[in-house]
Amino acid sequence: RRVPASLDALTAALQPLQEKGYLRLDAFCQAVAQLISNTLLPENDKGLLVALRPVPQLKPQQILTLCKPRRFGDLVTVLDDRVILFLSSCRYNDLDKALKFIFSLSHDELFANRMVWFEDSQILAEINNIKNLTPVALQDITSAPQPTQIAAAPVEVRERQTPQPITLLPEGTTR
Ligand code: C2E
Ligand code: C2E
Repeated sequence: RRVPASLDALTAALQPLQEKGYLRLDAFCQAVAQLISNTLLPENDKGLLVALRPVPQLKPQQILTLCKPRRFGDLVTVLDDRVILFLSSCRYNDLDKALKFIFSLSHDELFANRMVWFEDSQILAEINNIKNLTPVALQDITSAPQPTQIAAAPVEVRERQTPQPITLLPEGTTR
């Protein structure tokens, strides 16, 4: 464990993140993983990872234009058909409030469902899922938000074998 050498270093280590807003998926994962690994921040109280699926009329890219994070450390990215947010130091009970500040429209107008992770281990596990992404990894996200909802296990999907036509040799012929 790194011990900060000075007050400046300690203060810097306690800062959430010097970024806010949209990050590419890989940068998003790296930033969140780094933050969660910061042992100087409170355990299981670093923020919320939120996966939001837009209503069918809206594409994730359109949602991004309405998404205006204000707090440093509030990050957003897009994964497949979902918008993923990290809300720095946000408590579970304040999620609706934070979303209201960040999006100009109400949650129900924008999103069909959402999933939330808040413990360090849940967030790291989900970030790893996202990194090892297969587009199906998030397909079984369920609708109702529940405080104790935990990342659904990714469904293993095997590629279906496509039948190949074969020509039978006429009887008696050899290769
Ligand atoms: P920040 O955390 O990056 O927040 C930037 C701006 O986002 C704030 O500017 C404010 O307009 C908005 N904001 C962020 N979080 C909240 C929130 O929970 N509620 C509300 N109503 N607005 C929020 P502002 O107010 O000028 O603050 C500038 C910076 O000063 C903040 O940057 C933060 O670093 C610090 N700060 C201000 N008030 C507080 C506070 O009550 N607690 C903490 N921990 N930091 C604060
Ligand atoms: P509030 O504005 O009613 O926000 C209540 C809680 O909602 C915050 O608790 C935080 O958990 C969440 N939240 C609200 N806006 C945001 C956001 O933009 N991003 C994230 N990640 N979370 C958000 P918290 O942090 O304990 O702050 C408690 C109260 O302190 C806030 O009540 C607000 O009155 C004040 N505050 C905190 N940070 C700031 C700030 O940067 N600027 C100003 N002006 N006020 C702040």
